[in-house]
Amino acid sequence: MKQFNRLALIGFGLIGGSIARAARAQGLVGEIVATARSEQTRARVSELGLADAVVKTNAEAVVGADLVILSIPVGACGAAAQEIAPHLAHGAIVSDVGSVKGAIVRDMAPHLPPHAHFVPAHPVAGTEHSGPDSGFAELFINRWCILTPSEGADPDAVERLRAFWAALGARVEIMTAEHHDLVLAITSHLPHLIAYTIVGTADELAQVTSSEVIKFSAGGFRDFTRIAASDPTMWRDVFLSNKDAVLEMLGTFNEDLSRLTRAIRRGDGEALFEHFSRTRAIRRGIVETGQDSAAADFGRPHAHLDKPKD
Ligand code: NAP
Repeated sequence: MKQFNRLALIGFGLIGGSIARAARAQGLVGEIVATARSEQTRARVSELGLADAVVKTNAEAVVGADLVILSIPVGACGAAAQEIAPHLAHGAIVSDVGSVKGAIVRDMAPHLPPHAHFVPAHPVAGTEHSGPDSGFAELFINRWCILTPSEGADPDAVERLRAFWAALGARVEIMTAEHHDLVLAITSHLPHLIAYTIVGTADELAQVTSSEVIKFSAGGFRDFTRIAASDPTMWRDVFLSNKDAVLEMLGTFNEDLSRLTRAIRRGDGEALFEHFSRTRAIRRGIVETGQDSAAADFGRPHAHLDKPKD
């Protein structure tokens, strides 16, 4: 069922490309106008035939659009908002998909005109792949999409964007940008930082050769390498723009790591066992709520295709 006449997609990588594919598959929009920073990506989007029109500039893309979604790195959203502002249609909904929300609101909101409705969003779904070829229509199915409208946001615009994400297959939750950033700091940003650290540490080890690291990676390391392969630009921006929340969570993490380090040093098996039992229960909860499968490697790209049907 058509929800918007014209969807403007600014940025066409994993997320923008998945929105285009899913919106098409569900028949949610009349037409899609896409743009991307490089000529190469724009040419690839045309080749893939995933948009009705591919234009050169952000300003051109938003003309006549009733839904505009920025799917570009967090650090680039302020400048893009400034560029599109004079060209936005009356009543247009402007949204984004950034993994950090406070900085997006800070950088985008001041540029947007009162006749447009700004409703920030973050689909909590992804893979470590990037670019226009990496997207797929099923990416958002059964994943959360968090909307962080400001207090004065137009309820009708919020509802229309909620319905759009729901139609893409997502479960939608609404919270403040500040709360979003705190929650995602522990559930996403800190795990990525740990993965980036551990993979870097393994790479620098003198006593273990890199061929051994690769050979025996199934012992836990492999899952970290997948996360640590995530896009460097995106994650640089995440840590720069969610600094306070990440540092707060990192402080707590370091205290817990010290506690476990002490338990290992002291041979305190009871403390280790109690801790590992508690974390195992959290994993069970995630599987039970359908956010992951008990099958190995659920998170890898296209795993949805070979996931057993239940
Ligand atoms: P991606 O596949 O690398 O695509 C990024 C897009 O942004 C490309 O079209 C790229 O254009 C464009 N771009 C890159 N740098 C830019 C700049 N400085 N100014 C303007 N455009 C620029 O990235 P993605 O994974 O889709 O991520 C996009 C957004 O989604 C980010 O804000 C990220 O926080 C958020 N997000 C990502 C995930 C994930 O797992 N990947 C999950 C949820 C949300 P060119 O191709 O022409 O360079």
